[in-house]
Amino acid sequence: MPSLPQYRGRFAPSPTGPLHFGSLAAAVGSYLDARHHHGIWLVRMEDLDTPRCVPGAAEGILRTLEAFGLHWDGEVIWQSRRSAAYEAALHELQAAGAAYPCCCTRKEISDSALHGIDGPVYPGTCRNGIPAGREGRAWRVRTDTFPSPLGGEGAGERGYIEFDDFLQGHISQHLESEIGDFVVKRADDLFAYQLAVVVDDAFQGITHVVRGADLLYSTPRQIYLQRLLGFATPSYMHLPIAVNAQGEKLSKQTLAPAIATDDVVATLIKVLEFLRQRPPVELGQGSVEEVLGWAVGNWQPERMKGCRQLPAPT
Ligand code: GLU
Repeated sequence: MPSLPQYRGRFAPSPTGPLHFGSLAAAVGSYLDARHHHGIWLVRMEDLDTPRCVPGAAEGILRTLEAFGLHWDGEVIWQSRRSAAYEAALHELQAAGAAYPCCCTRKEISDSALHGIDGPVYPGTCRNGIPAGREGRAWRVRTDTFPSPLGGEGAGERGYIEFDDFLQGHISQHLESEIGDFVVKRADDLFAYQLAVVVDDAFQGITHVVRGADLLYSTPRQIYLQRLLGFATPSYMHLPIAVNAQGEKLSKQTLAPAIATDDVVATLIKVLEFLRQRPPVELGQGSVEEVLGWAVGNWQPERMKGCRQLPAPT
């Protein structure tokens, strides 16, 4: 009987709009890394933040992946259908005293917080109880638990979460002072991305996370939640972000154009060049399958070592 492949990767788009060059590059990077390692490649639709989801975007993303020959294994998982799993994880954190209700508004926090690498650092106002007369709106996780009240490792004795990213090197973050107690369930009753991604990566048995470097500083929060909840930590590779001529990340906000599917081979070659691979010129005459076959066989992600961002082709 063949043994189960060790490697399980995934692409986890948020259907807030169509794929653009940057999100396609993340999809291609995670696909190539998985297939190069003879691994499984899964797609998870992160349609949790319903107010930001655009009708039809998820289906459009799946059609674009197919047009680029990025065929996934198994069924697509939809976060909007997994609330029970997030609720169960939140319940575990609550029962262990690792999560607490918070009544603070955005304005109250921004008025009193120091600004960190990823927004205001929550000053801990509600950590020891909600002020009288106020009501909890969101749920936050304590970042001062060493070790974890659930029996795991927690934040470690010094409160630093550290990991080695395949491309970005050693990352060390002091969660409590650099991020602060963070939200796991939002005031609008939606589960936060940080919790959902950790629950789903564990549920899908993900061993390798390959995604854009815009999420590099979210990773310590995710590792921390994995430790609290007793999940394994995957290995991480954060790919360079595609930026426009102004140095801004390609996104809906910066009006990045949707990926066209009329000249798939030419676009795929541009993606490979962006990922610092060196496709031979004659590959431009090949089929999508030939281009991907070459890219899987010749995948050398180390060529992007240390790159946090790269210009998108114009
Ligand atoms: N859904 C996230 C995004 O589109 C990516 C999440 C992840 O890869 O962990 O930015």
